[in-house]
Amino acid sequence: MAHETPIDRSTRWPYVDGELGEFSYSRFDHPAGVAAERALGELEGGQALLFASGMAAATAAVLALSAPGKTIALGEGCYYGTTKLFELLAPWGVRFVEYDQAGPPPPDADLVWIEIPGNPLLTVPDLEAAAAHPAPVVCDATAATPVLCRPLEHGVDVVLHSATKYLGGHHDTLLGALAFRDGDLHDRVKAVRMQTGAIASPDSAWLLSRSLKTLELRVLRQSDTALELARRLAADPRVELVRYPGLGPDPLAARYMSGGFGGLLSFDVADAHAARRVETSTKLIANATSLGGVDTTIEGRFRWEGDRVPPGLLRLSVGVEDVEALWADLEQALARA
Ligand code: PLP
Repeated sequence: MAHETPIDRSTRWPYVDGELGEFSYSRFDHPAGVAAERALGELEGGQALLFASGMAAATAAVLALSAPGKTIALGEGCYYGTTKLFELLAPWGVRFVEYDQAGPPPPDADLVWIEIPGNPLLTVPDLEAAAAHPAPVVCDATAATPVLCRPLEHGVDVVLHSATKYLGGHHDTLLGALAFRDGDLHDRVKAVRMQTGAIASPDSAWLLSRSLKTLELRVLRQSDTALELARRLAADPRVELVRYPGLGPDPLAARYMSGGFGGLLSFDVADAHAARRVETSTKLIANATSLGGVDTTIEGRFRWEGDRVPPGLLRLSVGVEDVEALWADLEQALARA
């Protein structure tokens, strides 16, 4: 890994005897990026590419895998930003339909897009049913990470990460990643990255190499704590519903996730007012968006997603703090629900 390597921030490298060397221009690739891609590729069991953000990665994937007149089948309740991106592409003739990702994708789909587990409804897709579909399959595994699930091993073509989240892990770098089983597809998407200028910066890539060293430690700890908090929340009378794959029984979670169920969960309190009171009453837990960092965050998703989610839905991204300290904070905040 490249943590010990100084960051080379060059945008160009000299030709060697008039010929292209390993690196030439940093929009194509650069040493910190290639090092981090190698490390992530090993974790995923494929070849990785880094992008300036998760949405830049999603844009490159959809440009490479779709075209005017094509239909994308998107798992219901997946990251709302993905639906926003697909809506944005409507004038270019790309349409999308949502489907229940626990079952098989609609037969006429030209591209399948799923999420393990879905953010913020925490449903787990049937990866093998998706892979059995003739269309290419993209799986956003941001919330699972390769520690808990390696979708390429289940026949998925492309794995997507908002590496801003668990892979980066510290709420300090905006980053996206894709991983591929197939070298040709990797090369096609790399060409899109190059021509759209969507590559990650050397500094972000270097931070990813640093963060991957603690990924397993963080994710396992976050999973253990999330499971404990999910159980306690489920037993609390002020909480109407808890969504967490580890609360089970979820046969798809048991089939596709191992070692834990991740640090992300969501729960419902009575309504949007109760959710606002809870999220603004936490002290240790930051009332902020984003997820996957070592610091726990909570937010009502209604402010972003409107009617796509219940008005009292709170999304909790569990960090690495002491479980009792987190529970004490949640309990005193719930007292204001
Ligand atoms: N996918 C998921 C599951 C996400 O949660 C997010 C961001 O919240 C994204 C993709 C987009 O990633 P980014 O914010 O890094 O562009």
